[in-house]
Amino acid sequence: MLTLAPESVAMLVNEWGTAARAEAGESEQPFPDASELGWSGAGHADLVRTADLLQPVFAAGTPDERVRRLDRLLTDAGASVRLGLSDGRVEDRWVAARPADRLLVAALRTIRDVLADRGADAIGTCADDECVDVWIDGPRGRPRRYCSDYCSGRARVAAYRRRQREERA
Ligand SMILES: [Zn+2]
Repeated sequence: MLTLAPESVAMLVNEWGTAARAEAGESEQPFPDASELGWSGAGHADLVRTADLLQPVFAAGTPDERVRRLDRLLTDAGASVRLGLSDGRVEDRWVAARPADRLLVAALRTIRDVLADRGADAIGTCADDECVDVWIDGPRGRPRRYCSDYCSGRARVAAYRRRQREERA
């Protein structure tokens, strides 16, 4: 069964999402090679559409709202759960009603697993004012607020400069 890694879901939203590309000034830039997602069979339009549908799940203001948005997407995709055997073990298979929604349903399942394992705050959008990229917490480590070391470093420098200005004032 084809599954999407959490890093691939974050990459999908950040590299194909309309909002993230516009905020990063990358709207005119070429898209990455879709094979980097470890997923095949989704056309370019599906990648962009799926990224734009998923972004609000990350951007939700509360865990409650996040889970509601996730649930709504699942319902809209007409996803159903089927059972199958894999190496003698029973497993759930989330099936999209339409082939065009296969990627979406796989991403929803990955997000669902992350939230169920690590809590509904385990995903979000970058705390930097100038960045709307999304992040997914790793299994261990401190809770995140920024999409990348680059953004957390930039925020640290900005906070340092602000303190210095205040001290001089
Ligand atoms: Zn960022």
